[in-house]
Amino acid sequence: MTAKLVAFNTTSALSNFPLIEFVTDYLKGFGVESEIIPDPSGEKANLVATFGGGGAPGGIILSGHSDVVPVKDQAWDTDPFEAIEQDGRLYGRGTADMKSFIGVALALVPEFLEKPLKTPVRLALSYDEEVGCLGAPSLAKTMAGEPGAPPTIVIVGEPTSMRVVTAHKGIRSFRTTVTGTEAHSSAPDSGASAIMHGAKLVGFLRGLARDLRASKSQSPEFDTPFPTINVGRIDGGTAVNIIPKTCTIHWEYRPLPGTDENEIIERFHAFTREEWLPSYEAKSEAIKIKTQAMAHVPAYEAEPNSPATSLALDLAGTNLTAKVSYGSEAGIFQEAGFSTVLCGPGDIADAHIPNESIAISQIDACTDFMRRLITRAQAS
Ligand SMILES: [Zn+2]
Repeated sequence: MTAKLVAFNTTSALSNFPLIEFVTDYLKGFGVESEIIPDPSGEKANLVATFGGGGAPGGIILSGHSDVVPVKDQAWDTDPFEAIEQDGRLYGRGTADMKSFIGVALALVPEFLEKPLKTPVRLALSYDEEVGCLGAPSLAKTMAGEPGAPPTIVIVGEPTSMRVVTAHKGIRSFRTTVTGTEAHSSAPDSGASAIMHGAKLVGFLRGLARDLRASKSQSPEFDTPFPTINVGRIDGGTAVNIIPKTCTIHWEYRPLPGTDENEIIERFHAFTREEWLPSYEAKSEAIKIKTQAMAHVPAYEAEPNSPATSLALDLAGTNLTAKVSYGSEAGIFQEAGFSTVLCGPGDIADAHIPNESIAISQIDACTDFMRRLITRAQAS
């Protein structure tokens, strides 16, 4: 089933409808109807399906995103959209992140339906997770707002190596555009270099990143125990002999959960307003700056004694939890009122890279996890 899902190229820039239609048809074959929640463009959709429960209160959502990151400019040894099994691993885009979790859930549909479930189990597939969790808000809102007894627990099957993950950082990303004035490079007083001025902003962000690394408010349970800042891309300029008019800086900030994430962003804005802009305005009125907020993935931390954490620990047969630095849809589900936890097959280190892969033993461990979930949902 994972191989079938990998064969759909669901890179976020493309429509995920072929995969959604495949899942809809597959479930229909078992008499299970799917609810489709389209995006505003009508080119992508979330999918919700319910197994058992007969309208019983509560319910457990198995949450997975259908999209994958691009393979462009990556050196793959095989076709990324044809899953290949070799030496105990399955290779292909999405094998780790996160079509194996969805594949296991779909493959077990006959077992979900074999005996009646007392607690309903729901499958929730989203679109556009990899470009800022764009699909999850409407999915979470729809399910939280269901009449009667909406589900209460969400298991997000991101690759955690089947560890029970109870916290992750948030992601705030921004696009800062500096606009100067073009001129011949030999006449600096006639122009204002957007790139040279932009470089000062990059320097400021680097200083902020250093402050965050050195700050006392660290969380040692994270592998990177401090909030991080990255400048991931800079665009600008035309030629070496032209003073550049624009410079665009793409940057992100990954706050720890439970911290005031606006403080750092406000420090950036205060710097541009109070120090950076005044230092240039005297020379050239033409310097302008605009910062657009792009992605906002909320940080996530499970509530104490969370029902979702207890369930996942039980099903995974462990009493250990972990915290991770990558983002997911968990914070969105939590904000919508669900008790949420992360647990899924695959190693995050194998995601987003060429020759993405998953150990078959991870798929087996996830299968065991879900079979225990089925037994549990049948019992109460
Ligand atoms: Zn993912």
